[in-house]
Amino acid sequence: MVTRRTVSILGATGSVGSSTLDLIERAGDGFEVIALTAHRDVAKLAAAAVRTAAKLAVVGDADCGPALADALSGTGIATAAGPDAVRDAAASGAEWTMAAIVGCAGLPPVMAAIAAGGTVALANKEALVSAGDLMIRATARSGATLLPVDSEHNAIFQCLAGSRIERVRRILLTASGGPFRTASLDQMRAVTPAQAVRHPNWSMGAKISIDSATMMNKGLELIEAHHLFPVGADRIEIVVHPQSVIHSMVEYVDGSTLAQLGTPDMRTPIAHALAWPDRMEGPSAPLDFATLGRLDFEAPDDVRFPALRLARDAVIAGGARPAILNAANEVAVAAFLGGKIGFLDIAFIVGKVLDGYDPPAPGCIDDVLAVDDEARRIAGLVMRNLAA
Ligand code: NAD
Ligand code: MG
Repeated sequence: MVTRRTVSILGATGSVGSSTLDLIERAGDGFEVIALTAHRDVAKLAAAAVRTAAKLAVVGDADCGPALADALSGTGIATAAGPDAVRDAAASGAEWTMAAIVGCAGLPPVMAAIAAGGTVALANKEALVSAGDLMIRATARSGATLLPVDSEHNAIFQCLAGSRIERVRRILLTASGGPFRTASLDQMRAVTPAQAVRHPNWSMGAKISIDSATMMNKGLELIEAHHLFPVGADRIEIVVHPQSVIHSMVEYVDGSTLAQLGTPDMRTPIAHALAWPDRMEGPSAPLDFATLGRLDFEAPDDVRFPALRLARDAVIAGGARPAILNAANEVAVAAFLGGKIGFLDIAFIVGKVLDGYDPPAPGCIDDVLAVDDEARRIAGLVMRNLAA
């Protein structure tokens, strides 16, 4: 008998969630889907649950529970609703769980999946940024396997395979530079949400697309890398590489630099995490080096992209600083997407919240969630003053 690997996907209706489903559906019989979760997109969640014959479908927004139950009635697929139900779904014991909820809202479910002890493929970088030390410790405690899905971290993980972390001289985190890589501050002041979500190389959810435009995404990824690959933040450098072909690099003490390359398609790192330690067939287009012609690199500019400096300061200071940075950024990005603030206000607001709030280091996940709440409240106040 062929044994099928049991999988759950948290954030199944999003960009990473959909790419994960695509791989699982292409793989045919190899996987058995336990739970799929989403926030509010009942129709998309129900359709995915039916297609994959999932055992359980869960919406995070309790108000959407009746619509989901209705959509799946008669299918034999169980349904549930509310944040606690998402967390329970994460703990339902799948061998492999994709954590692809966006934002710190994904933290309790990620911690539940880690506590359950299986393999957790982590896309939800905000959860790791907010609670890095606690999450890494919980992983060691439960014996769970945490596999990085963020393309850069997946690349670093692949470049580290079989080597000792003490032999690493530098980690080179590549950044596309986003849609405003060559824009002036004056040009950036006037950009609209529609312009900012249009990433030159990747198709992604709205929040990470804005983070890429402000380069806060690279700041969050610096913090993410610091927790996943403990070489010291001063050994993690950001290098702008506009083509997004090299997904990151590891330089060793002997002078060797290893890179992982691929077309910018999240299905490659997701497939790596899905099959690890083996490999599986992936659908992304192969690289055509002759057409590509060249690869370019430049230093990041933290004058036009102050989010980079804010994130570096936060990772060096540690404690609650990364959780504050993340929460303020989530609020500011949502306000920008809602047309309430300007593009340059995003990093300005994050800086103001960090200036005005300095609680002690969180000792548990509830502390992290309390810091997250308070930083959101302060970000709201800063925005109101901005508008006045
Ligand atoms: P997305 O907005 O497309 O999808 C987010 C998913 O989370 C959806 O299924 C949504 O229903 C669910 N969700 C949102 N809020 C929720 C809540 N409060 N409770 C429960 N579920 C909720 O986002 P995405 O682009 O797929 O990104 C997901 C995560 O992966 C983010 O942390 C992002 O930074 C990271 N990531 C994404 C990419 C990418 O290419 N999209 C690449 C690297 C890392
Ligand atoms: Mg990334």
